[in-house]
Amino acid sequence: MDIQSEAASQSVYLERRAARRPSRPLLSIVVPVYNEAEVLEIFLAETQAVLAGLAVVSEFIFIDDGSSDDTARIICRYLSEGLPGKLIGLSRNFGKEAALTAGLDHAKGDILVILDADLQDPPGLIPEMLELWKQGYDVIYGLRVDRSQDTLMKRSTASMFYRLFDRLTSIHMPANAGDFRLIDRSVAESLGRLPERSRFMKGLFAWVGHPTTFVPYERPSRRAGKGKWNYWKLWNFALDGLASFTSVPLRVWLYCGGLIATAAFAYAMVLVARVILYGIDVPGYASLMVSVLFFSGLQLLSIGIIGEYVGRLFIETKQRPVYLVQDIIESSATPADAKP
Ligand code: UDP
Ligand code: MG
Repeated sequence: MDIQSEAASQSVYLERRAARRPSRPLLSIVVPVYNEAEVLEIFLAETQAVLAGLAVVSEFIFIDDGSSDDTARIICRYLSEGLPGKLIGLSRNFGKEAALTAGLDHAKGDILVILDADLQDPPGLIPEMLELWKQGYDVIYGLRVDRSQDTLMKRSTASMFYRLFDRLTSIHMPANAGDFRLIDRSVAESLGRLPERSRFMKGLFAWVGHPTTFVPYERPSRRAGKGKWNYWKLWNFALDGLASFTSVPLRVWLYCGGLIATAAFAYAMVLVARVILYGIDVPGYASLMVSVLFFSGLQLLSIGIIGEYVGRLFIETKQRPVYLVQDIIESSATPADAKP
């Protein structure tokens, strides 16, 4: 079902929800930060300028994902100067997905907005998102319409991934949507109920559902500092996403095996018939080598895929927490102080 028809069938719920929205909600800005000292000042300036024009009470939830630069110190300074919100210091670098989970767990807002610190998620879209929230939508994500800032390689691999994900899994994950979104408190609570350790957030957002819509935007390039992704990380991220949402790669070997076994049986019949008709014939080194190499390759591949899932089981059964907090530093102001 596309977004439009989904909205039509959801309109009763939307209206009921819209009627219950508070007129002056608490908005938590959730920002995972990892070595972002260079952009914090401009990030805060731009975001606060946007928030100032809105009828909301706001707070900032920074999650320091084990930064080794001055990130934590700078945020602390802002908090002590009266920036409403808190800094959640994780005990080491757990990765953006875990940091986001920590942020969602600690944000108290009626509304949560997930932003990257590097201003690649323009805060200027928040007012539009807030309007849609007031109309009853629970999830409003930013849809990247223009990815020309990304390299051709990144764009094509990303689009391949989204297509594969759609084919293999039963949930629809919107293509070209990042983590940038405004969500209702209820969505954060739904996410909190998902116990898995490997947290592929984009997939989890799609899995929990709730009335969803989007705001299109052009994704600018990073304002300052350095990006933290490389192709190896992205590849692992994609594998993680697929393996946590589908078991098709495991099942496909059943059919492969069946097909190959049938073909092998047919070939055996041909060989037997040939022996009966023409007698024994010795040559066959090439075909022997080819089939041995081909099948050992196939077996290694399938064992690797099984390993991928067994590894996941191993990680999940250990039941380790997704992140560990070493300290929480609160603002000297309460969120309500921040607004006139
Ligand atoms: N980030 C994080 N932990 C990490 C890597 C990144 O919290 O291990 C944060 C980072 O500080 C930024 C956001 O996640 O606020 C997005 O990171 P980045 O800009 O490197 O990613 P991209 O824009 O390429 O998706
Ligand atoms: Mg970025």
